[in-house]
Amino acid sequence: MIQAEPGFLDGACDMHVHFAPDVVPRAMTAPALALSCRDAGMRAVLLKNHYAPTVLCARAVAEMVPGMRVFGGLVLNASVGGINPAAVEAALRMGAKEIWMPTVSAGPHQRRVRDGRLAPRVAVFDAAGQPAPGLEAVLEMIAHSDAILGTGHLAPQETLALVALARNAGVSKILVTHPEFDAIAMDLATQAALADQGAFFERCYHTLHGAAPGRTKAMADAIRYLGPESTVLASDAGQLGGASPAHALLRFCEELLRRGIAADQIAVMLKDNPAWLLGLVR
Ligand SMILES: [Zn+2]
Repeated sequence: MIQAEPGFLDGACDMHVHFAPDVVPRAMTAPALALSCRDAGMRAVLLKNHYAPTVLCARAVAEMVPGMRVFGGLVLNASVGGINPAAVEAALRMGAKEIWMPTVSAGPHQRRVRDGRLAPRVAVFDAAGQPAPGLEAVLEMIAHSDAILGTGHLAPQETLALVALARNAGVSKILVTHPEFDAIAMDLATQAALADQGAFFERCYHTLHGAAPGRTKAMADAIRYLGPESTVLASDAGQLGGASPAHALLRFCEELLRRGIAADQIAVMLKDNPAWLLGLVR
């Protein structure tokens, strides 16, 4: 078996981790999570919560865990008012690094899990394909702050329309949220069209959990097809009973090494690309 060497995670950034408290049970609180990442040699984490902004928590944890960069963001689900420019402006002014389009409130996710009162649908485009009120203002603020636009759990066709609008608004950092996730299932042709617009793809270890065995190979094939320069590797860890971010990333990298992705390509996807998106390098 191919194993990652000691120090493999030195400088790694994880742009998708969950923590307690959350509306569902999570594996760790944010301080415990950040400490475990620092112990593994990692450089940065971006905290995610589907229902509330994480920027306040991130700042507090960053002060508690020197040597570790801890960032937050905001997901535009119903619990923050959906496509809500005021919530976005507040989060960005407090240092949010990523603003995600709806996840649990997105159309494709609604067909999968019904969260009812907690996560009713938030439309990003209307039936005629027109942007929701406030969407263009949100994109302009993201561009102005040089923050990251996360595409959430939108359908692939909506993501194409969103990215075109974002580019027009001057957004330079676009991260397509786990394109392999069941509710999204974005094909390679769509990914290629988005890569042509400069989008990155966040491929998550957790997406492989419970998936058909071919999914790891499909992910490796997507990386080969599009090139590592457009991929970010993330854990989506914090799930109850799941591995810590560092363990998840190590296992993920070992799976990819076994499927022929080179260690220097992994470093680009695990360290360089996230560092650029997070503004740690110019
Ligand atoms: Zn997640």
